[in-house]
Amino acid sequence: MNPKVSIVVPLYNEEQVFEKLISRLKEVVRTSAFEIEIVLVDDGSRDTTAKLIETTAESDSHFTGVVLSRNHGHQLAVSAGLSVAKGTEAVMIIDGDLQDPPELVLDFYSKLKEGYDVIYAIRKNRKESPLKKFAYWCYYRLQQKVSNIKIPLDSGDFSMISRRVADYINQMPEQSRYLRGMRSWVGFKQFGYAYNRDARATGETKYSLKKLFSLAFDGIFNFSDFPVRFITRLGIYTIVLSLVYISYILIRKFFFGDVPQGFTTLIIAICLFSGVQLISIGLIGEYVLRIYNQVRNRPLFVIDKIISKK
Ligand code: UDP
Ligand code: MG
Repeated sequence: MNPKVSIVVPLYNEEQVFEKLISRLKEVVRTSAFEIEIVLVDDGSRDTTAKLIETTAESDSHFTGVVLSRNHGHQLAVSAGLSVAKGTEAVMIIDGDLQDPPELVLDFYSKLKEGYDVIYAIRKNRKESPLKKFAYWCYYRLQQKVSNIKIPLDSGDFSMISRRVADYINQMPEQSRYLRGMRSWVGFKQFGYAYNRDARATGETKYSLKKLFSLAFDGIFNFSDFPVRFITRLGIYTIVLSLVYISYILIRKFFFGDVPQGFTTLIIAICLFSGVQLISIGLIGEYVLRIYNQVRNRPLFVIDKIISKK
């Protein structure tokens, strides 16, 4: 019989936390009233994580192990887990470092039963350095400001999604994946569940600064037309300002005659044409955006239900 709920856990060099994680998960499986499957994904770890996953999956039928060929990054590791998760009703996504308490599966599941398709966790607090906290705070607000769709503030990948949302996400073939955005994109009724984010159980963050930045860029560029539109707007402002300045220079030239020879032409060439160039780049950008949207191949729309009288 297929499990009702799958829990997907991406793991990259997490041998230190593994035992603790598995015992917490086993306890969740044991106490839950419904059938749970745990999908452990090894994201090309260089330590013994893959081996540990194999042993666990071989000895306990509640666990399924997925071992990736190399390190693909957190978002792809979760995507791989989603693609094999069999949960007929829902899939929950948690981090492997126990920052996201797996016990919440019960609360999330009861919200699902109330009719929500996505239950995403909102971090009430973070146990990070003040600088990192501030950077996250700024980033989420910037991202929400420029995004085409509403991506909730301060929520990560920790969430439970219904089977149909998981199916939609699995159907999206986009290469650069920002799951919390894709999850928002699908829509339906979504519920924000506030929780206190624990500190990492053991070990260090597996998100290097480079990976963090790459995720941040995906969050902006995959869900926003703003950067391209901004160039066009900048071009328009430049042209308007340069026209004002050019008029001023022309007046000085013809009525006061105190402008050096050749200066007027130079100013017109520089100011006006930099504006024209910016607009042109923006226009090309508009076409690139359209090509990007087309090749990304997301479903055109998501239907919740069709109502008709038979
Ligand atoms: N992770 C992964 N691949 C990576 C980086 C991280 O699968 O390339 C996993 C990691 O093992 C953890 C989760 O993604 O289970 C979140 O990573 P981490 O806790 O290091 O990120 P942070 O909480 O510091 O943002
Ligand atoms: Mg963590």
